[in-house]
Order: sequence, then structure tokens, then C-alpha cells
Amino acid sequence: MKRILTQLLNLAEVIVESSLQEGQTLILSVSKKVKSAVCPQCGQKSEKLHQNQRYLVKDLPMGDKEVILNVNRRRFKCKKCRKT
Ligand SMILES: [Zn+2]
Repeated sequence: MKRILTQLLNLAEVIVESSLQEGQTLILSVSKKVKSAVCPQCGQKSEKLHQNQRYLVKDLPMGDKEVILNVNRRRFKCKKCRKT
């Protein structure tokens, strides 16, 4: 089920963590696959999670269902220049 949903979303770097159906609305909790990020400033690889930023994406109709994406956006903090 989860894999099918990921394929349906057609986003290779996004994982569907969980899905919840409420009537005609399907809520998908998704997150990016990345566990680390490279700082665009200095190139330092950062694995320190700065914050999880969640936002909801509405209006993604799938058939006759309304799909809401609960996107978990991970942000990383650079040790060197302290940029996220
Ligand atoms: Zn940096």
C-alpha cells in the first residue's frame, strides 16, 4: 500500500510514512528520503537535524478522493557557518 502510494505520487525522493483515510479525504504523511544535507555555503556535510518543518499540501485529487499531503520537511544546520 505504502509503496503504491509512493509510486502514485511519482516522487522518487519522497517516502510515504503513513496514510490515513477520513471519509473521502486521504491524508498522507510524507517525508524526504535524505538523512543528511550538504551546506550550499561551505560544502560541509551536515547530519544534525535542525528542525522538522511540517506543512500541509491540499488539493491533490486522486480519483474521487481528496488527498492531503502532510509533508515533513527536514532542515539541517551547518556546524561551520550555522546556516540551515
Ligand atoms: Zn556551512
